[in-house]
Amino acid sequence: MTGRLSSPPSLDRVGGKALHCPPGSWLGVIGGGQLGRMFCMAAQAMGYRVCVLDPAPDGPAGSVADRQIVAAYDDAQALDALAALCAAVTTEFENVPAQSLARLAARCIVRPAPSAVSIAQDRIAEKAFLRSCGVPVGAYATIAGAAESAEVARELFPAICKTARMGYDGKGQVAVTAAKDLPQAWRALGSVPCVVEQRIDLRRELSVVLARGHDGAVAVFAVHENEHRNGILAVSIAPARIPPETAERARGIAVQVAQGLQYTGVLCVELFERMDGTLLVNEIAPRPHNSGHATIDACIDSQFDQQVRSLAGLPLGDPTAMRPSVMCNLLGDVWFDRDGVSRIPPFDAVLAIPGARLHLYGKTQARPGRKMGHVTVLGASVDEALSRARLVADILGLEAPR
Ligand code: ATP
Ligand code: MG
Repeated sequence: MTGRLSSPPSLDRVGGKALHCPPGSWLGVIGGGQLGRMFCMAAQAMGYRVCVLDPAPDGPAGSVADRQIVAAYDDAQALDALAALCAAVTTEFENVPAQSLARLAARCIVRPAPSAVSIAQDRIAEKAFLRSCGVPVGAYATIAGAAESAEVARELFPAICKTARMGYDGKGQVAVTAAKDLPQAWRALGSVPCVVEQRIDLRRELSVVLARGHDGAVAVFAVHENEHRNGILAVSIAPARIPPETAERARGIAVQVAQGLQYTGVLCVELFERMDGTLLVNEIAPRPHNSGHATIDACIDSQFDQQVRSLAGLPLGDPTAMRPSVMCNLLGDVWFDRDGVSRIPPFDAVLAIPGARLHLYGKTQARPGRKMGHVTVLGASVDEALSRARLVADILGLEAPR
């Protein structure tokens, strides 16, 4: 061994820039939340420097990044400064204005491609795309005007009316029991374009996170099983307690979506399992996903490592899980006791539980419903991880994982 580093692979080029960005170069991320923070940490661990673009100073990502450009997501000068500094830029959320990504893409590598992000940011485009690539989706109708809201077929109800754009954590959604209630529900959502989805009788919610390289290589994480409370992810269990055949079907669907998008980057496909065992795609996220956070502690390479690798044009890492895991989200509610008095949660007791790992996002203000962090609990089996996670839930006053 000489200790000499092997020379980097030959460089393809886009717009004069190398497709392979070596460690030491700058990577950019639009958005300053916790997903951006975990991306920064993974990139920095590999020797990259990271610049965040976000209007809020000192957010979760900005406070760990090497640099932050404090500006609106559609600030042309700021976008140009980001593109001038960084070899490649990604996003931590799907609601970045499409024009901003297009502006960046004319100046540097942008992964995932703006076209993929724009599909994921509009439920109407997303459903049409999912159908076109042949994956199963539930029955739905789209409404753009008052007349259409009065014409949706009765068979679709009970249903959920969702705004086409800008929804997250169950926001921008209204449950609608009967067709006659839809016009009012649509108005309550601001009379904006919506999809109306048949309410699915769920046996389970699943998610598949994968990474796809610019060369078409794909690395798929184990299927996660998710519990939502009040529309927000509460618990994610991996591997999901489903037959291997169901897991393979779920992973196959996710790969089909990624291929259909000619996707580069990390993608999450959220799935519903119906009572009869059939799977439906709920929605996709063009980025790492809350349900994939346990990959940081459980897998050889995490979803954020994969985001860095796919963005930088490096070979994808290994998504193998070394341990089963249960992830519990920590919402701001945990920072208040039963009487509503603010407190520091008893993290010392949590960390005394074997296999428990704490991740806090550096948010200074705790508010009910606000994602403040998560605890990942590892175990030798899913059952062991679950029983440890129940202890964590008990200490923190969370509803226990099922
Ligand atoms: P997130 O940001 O957490 O992914 P979101 O605001 O994008 O949420 P959805 O994923 O569409 O919203 O819905 C949130 C949750 O509401 C789902 O995970 C599921 O629990 C429930 N839900 C949504 N649509 C349906 C449906 N058609 N049938 C049954 N349950 C549904
Ligand atoms: Mg969702």
